[in-house]
This record gives sequence, C-alpha cells and structure tokens, in this order.
Amino acid sequence: MLTVRDLTLKVTRKCIFPVWHVGLDLGKQERVAVVGESGGGKTSLACGLLGHPLPGQHIVCGRVSFGRTDLLHLSPAERVQFYYRDIALVPQNAQNIFHPTQKLWKSAREVMAKNSPERLMFRDVTERVSVFSESLELPVALWSHYPHQLSGGQKQRMAVILALLNNPRVLLLDEPSNALDELNRRKLVDFLTAWAGSTGAGLLLFTHDMGIAACWATRIVVLYRGEVVEELPARMIGAPRHPYTRGLVAANIRLGDPPLSRCGIPGHAVPVAQMPKGCGFFERCPQAHSHCRHEIPSLVARGESKVRCFAVD
Ligand code: SF4
Repeated sequence: MLTVRDLTLKVTRKCIFPVWHVGLDLGKQERVAVVGESGGGKTSLACGLLGHPLPGQHIVCGRVSFGRTDLLHLSPAERVQFYYRDIALVPQNAQNIFHPTQKLWKSAREVMAKNSPERLMFRDVTERVSVFSESLELPVALWSHYPHQLSGGQKQRMAVILALLNNPRVLLLDEPSNALDELNRRKLVDFLTAWAGSTGAGLLLFTHDMGIAACWATRIVVLYRGEVVEELPARMIGAPRHPYTRGLVAANIRLGDPPLSRCGIPGHAVPVAQMPKGCGFFERCPQAHSHCRHEIPSLVARGESKVRCFAVD
C-alpha cells in the first residue's frame, strides 16, 4: 500500500542528512513501528515521506508511492484531496495542533470538510466524533470546549480522532501517546488496533517506546542516525541481532525491574554528517572491529529480518 524507496533528506545549506536512503513497506492492515532514540530521524522521516519535510530540510532523492500515487510530486490541490482521506498524520506533540481561539468541534469540521463536498453542520460533526470519542472514553461534550480547557492527554486523543474522521487508508502516528498515562496509552493502542482491523488501514508508528512497539506492531524497523539498521518481525524483538537494537531493548524499563538493573547505550547519536567512513554505530558499538571503522555494512536479509552489521552471520 505504502512504499518508500531510497528516501534521503538534507538540512538545507548544511551537510547533515537526518534521513539516509531509507526504504520501507507498509501493507494493508499491517502495523509497522519505526523505533530509535530521540533525534534519530523519526519525525524527519514521517514528514518527509508525506512530501512535507520539516522546516529547514529538503528531499534529496527517493520515491514514496501510495498505490499508484507518487506522494512526493502531488500538486497543492491534489495534496489537499489526498490527505486525511487516503493518508493522515498524527504529528508529534499533537495536543498543540488545535487553534487556541477556536472550539474543538470547528477543528473537526475543518478536517471533515477537506474531503466532503457538503456543508457540514454541528450535528454532522458531533455524530462522527461521538463514535470515536466513546471508544476512547472521552465525553462528546469536550468538543464544545476551547483547547486550553482540556488536559494534554484529552487533546492528544482528540488529535488522533481528527486524523480518523475521514477514514484514511494509512495512518501515520508520531509519538501519539507521550502525553498519556499508562492506562490511556493501553486504551489508545487497543482502539487503534481494533480500528485498523475493522477498516483494513495500515498503521505506521514512529516511537522511541520499545514496549509499545513490541506489543502493538507486527513489524519493527530500527532507525539509527536516519538509517535503517535492522528490520524484523515484532515477535522476534526479544532476540534482535543488531547491537543497536539490542541496546534499545536492554534499556527498556519494565515494572518490577530492580532499580538500575537496566543498561543503556554508551555515548549519543550524532548527525549523519559526522559519521565515520565506516559503520555509523562504530563509536558506540560493544562488538566493533577495526574494519567496521573503514567499511560501510549493507542492509542484508537474514531469514525474516534484515540487518546492517558485519558481526551478524
Ligand atoms: S558493523 Fe561493526 S560497528 Fe557496526 S554495528 Fe556491526 S559490529 Fe558494530
């Protein structure tokens, strides 16, 4: 349904590449999670594959296909028609997307009007939002409030509902649960899974939360410095093969773990421009060999996975 090939993004007037030759596929009813540290290129990738790079970035090369539609070469008019109806994005910090002086139902009406030829009334909008609101245990009356009258978690769930109003066939979610407590996070995950199951939509989640990715996704794509280093079925996340994925899994905190029993990944990711000539993970890798510094590993298929590492047989 959604195919990304060789997508590369660059920071304008700097030799920094937040996304580097990324390829991924999302099928019908599939749930794919793109995981990695903060600053690893997830948000740049989410915006870039919609043909809307973040301010100060531009697309260097690549192809993004949605069926037969080339997402990177839509005209502005086609873009308006296409978004929300075919593909929608719940952006990072989605609780801030609402107009501060506008009641929330008006935001919902604006979204529905993008793909609806008829004039929409308050009743049309509330009927539509009430179905989703009830599923997420949000009082429908909240849509008559202003954004400042709601909590961050309520606004975040309402932003998810906005993205679903026109029944998109692909939904992109960039850290959709970071303003939610554990209970509401679980409800949102269950709700989105049920919604995708009933509509056949594909879901692409961008998150640093390995726990959510592992329990929710069918497939996981691991991004490091804007580059895919491993792709694997979610059921195999307990035995990842790339040292970076292993570090992410080991750093995941679970309830009941003794204090300080988790270990992280030493150092921090630096932009692609500062990459050594060899493997981008060399400086932080516990398994690095001298040749990793000078040779660039390719993404190679290993059974059901793909891994970019010389140490993986
Ligand atoms: S190629 Fe070498 S440095 Fe890179 S992840 Fe594998 S072992 Fe580590």
